[in-house]
Amino acid sequence: MTTTLLVERALTAEGWRHNLRIDVDDGGVITGLSADEEPSDPDWVTIRGAVIPGMPNLHSHAFQRAIAGLTEHGNADREDSFWSWRDKMYGALARLGPDEMSAIAAQLYVEMLKRGYTAVGEFHYVHHNEAGLPYDNRAELSLQVVGAARRVGIAICHLPTLYCLGGFDSRPLAGGQLRFANDVGGLLDIRDAVIAANEDDGRVSVGLGLHSLRAVNGGDIAAATRAVGAETPIHIHVAEQTAEIDDCMSTLGARPVDYLLNHAAVDKRWCLVHGTHANGFEISRMAESGAVVGLCPTTEASLGDGIFPIQALLAAGGRFGIGSDSQISVDPGEELRWLEYEQRLLRQRRNLLTGTSQPSVGQHLYEAAARTGSDVLGQPIGQIAEGMFADFAVLDTDSAALCHVADEHLLDVAVFANHGNPVRDVYVSGRPVIRNGRHEEEAQIDEAYRAAIGRLRG
Ligand SMILES: [Zn+2]
Repeated sequence: MTTTLLVERALTAEGWRHNLRIDVDDGGVITGLSADEEPSDPDWVTIRGAVIPGMPNLHSHAFQRAIAGLTEHGNADREDSFWSWRDKMYGALARLGPDEMSAIAAQLYVEMLKRGYTAVGEFHYVHHNEAGLPYDNRAELSLQVVGAARRVGIAICHLPTLYCLGGFDSRPLAGGQLRFANDVGGLLDIRDAVIAANEDDGRVSVGLGLHSLRAVNGGDIAAATRAVGAETPIHIHVAEQTAEIDDCMSTLGARPVDYLLNHAAVDKRWCLVHGTHANGFEISRMAESGAVVGLCPTTEASLGDGIFPIQALLAAGGRFGIGSDSQISVDPGEELRWLEYEQRLLRQRRNLLTGTSQPSVGQHLYEAAARTGSDVLGQPIGQIAEGMFADFAVLDTDSAALCHVADEHLLDVAVFANHGNPVRDVYVSGRPVIRNGRHEEEAQIDEAYRAAIGRLRG
């Protein structure tokens, strides 16, 4: 049966439309769009406000929600960096079991939906128990995370992640890293189990994560990517820290992006997360490959990673998307704002990330980031168009922040004027998952989250 929505105004793949009729089939896919319609059937669902495509969140580590904001104390004896943050992140895993993983992921995914993220790429590398041994079901923690996404109603591309080594010098994993360890066969078993358990749900796709070049060697990258086939989304952390660049140069004889592009068939299904320290040559090669650069500006700022040269990527015709990564912020508007503000601060100019035919920075960034979700999360998402899943956020144009704002300024106001959450309702597969800012299971999910956090911090 087709559901018909009648939307006051909507940002379609063809631009803004008013009184837009959207037909959605049983599977949640848009089958028809037509503008300037009058309500003519009492069964049509009318939506007041401005409907924009749901934003794909390309890069999430759900468990890190549990330590967001708890790593901000400096130490007079030592300079803090990504690497000291990483030790604290490992510490947070000490008491994390399946129940905690499920509760934290469910809470986080409700928070994502409320802000308009409608799909998440879950880069999942915590596979084993607290002793570093596989659970009876090797895919236990993966299944908990995917189960949380299904319960909450967010689309997910699960990315079980290969993590084999403790550094470019091939040292073995140790301490907190033992929970991450798999060989290629073990990782593929987890992937197969997640696929088998979720074949009935078109909003669950399963890709492949490769933690980084410091954690996975070239032979294992070749074996794993060959095994998953040509259509599978593949994500990797590429160039987040300058120390990684230096180590990669000294052990592999090339910078990481360069090395990866020389040794893997990188194409549009690849998400290269944090290309932060890619040089000009690597940027043009990334653009040429069709890969999507996964940028997480609030996390990259929080961890002191550096500033990604996005102007160079866009000038080269490259593609990007955004992710909430360490969950220090779960807000697509804030990620996009930071992308532009980093460049303004560097260049002492304004309105830098516009399109050739799109002067609105907010709309240009929002559409460009949303559009890349299809290729790297393995589902037709990120645009309001026929053949795409009906995943939307509804901006509250009755709010003081967005009242009387013309179409061409709506996303600028939503992204750059930070006066609270602009999203009122959220739809996934044409069905409401957030109504008036609330998820119908949020009370139970919140309670379970608080109990889990209590146990972790006990
Ligand atoms: Zn990450």
